[in-house]
Amino acid sequence: MKVRFWGTRGSIATPGPGTNHFGGNTSCVELCTASGDLLIFDCGTGAHPLAAKLMAQGKGAISVNILLGHTHWDHIQGFPFFSPAFVKGNSAAIYGPKGSRGSLHEVLAGQMEFPYFPIELNQLPAAITYHDLSEGIHDIGGARVATQYLNHPAVTLGFRVEADDVAVVYLVDHEPFSDELWRAGAEPGRIESILHDGDRRHARFMADADLVIHDAQYTPEEYRTKKTWGHSTYDYVVKIAAAAGVRRVALTHHDPGHNDDFVADIERKARTLASQQGTEVNVFCAYEGCEFVLEPRPTLKPFVAADPGRSSVVWHRFHILIVDDQPDTLALVARALEEEQYTVSKAASGAEALRIIAAQLPDLLVLDYKMIDMDGLAVMKALRAKPETERLPVLMLTAMTDEPSTRAGFEAGVTDYVTKPFSIPQLTARVRACLARIQPLD
Ligand SMILES: [Zn+2]
Ligand SMILES: [Zn+2]
Repeated sequence: MKVRFWGTRGSIATPGPGTNHFGGNTSCVELCTASGDLLIFDCGTGAHPLAAKLMAQGKGAISVNILLGHTHWDHIQGFPFFSPAFVKGNSAAIYGPKGSRGSLHEVLAGQMEFPYFPIELNQLPAAITYHDLSEGIHDIGGARVATQYLNHPAVTLGFRVEADDVAVVYLVDHEPFSDELWRAGAEPGRIESILHDGDRRHARFMADADLVIHDAQYTPEEYRTKKTWGHSTYDYVVKIAAAAGVRRVALTHHDPGHNDDFVADIERKARTLASQQGTEVNVFCAYEGCEFVLEPRPTLKPFVAADPGRSSVVWHRFHILIVDDQPDTLALVARALEEEQYTVSKAASGAEALRIIAAQLPDLLVLDYKMIDMDGLAVMKALRAKPETERLPVLMLTAMTDEPSTRAGFEAGVTDYVTKPFSIPQLTARVRACLARIQPLD
């Protein structure tokens, strides 16, 4: 399988003398399988030079599979300039997560409306199909493609492409689920020792991959003031990839404020950290034009999903109960979820929540940890003791970021654990991932 990076910059295209080496175009990576199928991760401005190369090849009709992790500008802005879409006879299958506000087709059409662009999406002559994805295993361009939700202030999917006995995993944009990676007392460096279920799931998703392409926009120092912005640091990526037995890691989505010297310094630090972890993982910072071939490895272990069979989600008006004794937080979260078209109930205490649940079982509980009288853990204990609420999904909201509290939350059986301060887009994306995972098996 051949891999080529066409766009490695995050947030906004950053051309200029300071970014000549690592590149100024936003996210776009090309994969070409041995059978000649093309899969493209994201359609940032890097899709423009990729399109020019495809057109120059002059091999007849062009057929591509475009995998969009999410639809923030830096991941879709190259699409209106993707020249193969302007030629009749070519075809593009576009895959991406269904956001809470409109289908993939509607969102892509939005950036090409008349005030922004002279040609509307539906006027493009190529045959374009749109595929809303959820978490699961899919067959795309002859490859086995697994998808999993990431932690970003938008509904965002990571992709694991398995073809030609090679696994390439694309995890952009994403930030750690927890400040603490390891559970206290557990041996660091092992997947089983990861504290937060979300980070452990993330590690399993990339396990044994030949190449992981991962967001590493910030340094650990910068990340302290950029929490909830949805991006990772090289130290998180190196530690989690080393635990997952990944062979090669490409750090990407470079910050627009980082020039070539700065990114080269990140690369040096990431490599030093990798060798300190005692692993063979080969870490580098992706640059535009970086191209290599991944040789088949028959010993590759295919990804096995934790919740197999949930590749299609039937979305309906879900009922969410929010429990918080802080009136401001209760009102803020309720308003945000109502805007996302959920049916929302509110409880100001644990006891009130249990009464509401006994009368009508919600699809999801958003539960505050620290409440006077009955705290979140006591509510969990009461729920898990009864067969009818034993498996009710619970997203715990908490200011308790320390390791013992996080561990206590998961040991009490929470589905997800979101620490304050959180951003509303981040919370709604996490709510959506929880709901996607509780679908009945199909
Ligand atoms: Zn981005
Ligand atoms: Zn983003």
